[in-house]
Amino acid sequence: PINCEPLKALVRGVPDFPKPGILFYDITTLLKDQTGFAQLIDAFAQYYIDKHVDLVLGIEARGFIFGPALAYRLNAGFVPVRKPGKLPAETATIKYDLEYGSDSLQIHKDAIQPGQRVIIVDDLLATGGTMLATTQLVKQLGGEIVGLTVAIELDFLKGRAKFPDMDVFSLMHYD
Ligand code: 5GP
Repeated sequence: PINCEPLKALVRGVPDFPKPGILFYDITTLLKDQTGFAQLIDAFAQYYIDKHVDLVLGIEARGFIFGPALAYRLNAGFVPVRKPGKLPAETATIKYDLEYGSDSLQIHKDAIQPGQRVIIVDDLLATGGTMLATTQLVKQLGGEIVGLTVAIELDFLKGRAKFPDMDVFSLMHYD
């Protein structure tokens, strides 16, 4: 396993974004670092390389940055999970609750064949609501979830507790 302290040093904490009182973990400072980005994708790839992953699902928008790079390394396909109204063909939709209000995510209905082995990738796990909704989409389509993958986990929000039966792999932890 890699030492994640150098990677953590590349993540920028931005206070009061998007609203007062929120500390936002900005990964763009890690992405633009040539060795940091490679180390991150390598660490993901090493974890999944022998787990027979057919598809990497990326959650819009920052899952679209890590997901395809990882899919390429795993010889897997990439599937986008998108905000409503963006996907052109027939979609499955899941609605999920936010702190205030709700949001939805969509996937193409033919994106996963029943039994295909899937991992879901996003940049960060906070409450786990976004990830949980995405697991429900995968289950609707009959995919088998091999694991949930994030660069950053906010441990104090206990998002991981929403997935007692799943393997959650995260590289960086904040409390
Ligand atoms: P959750 O649904 O787990 O509460 O929130 C996770 C989602 O919100 C992810 O899609 C993630 O991109 C976004 N998110 C929430 N907080 C942060 C943050 O501090 N930094 C980044 N990069 N994304 C965040």
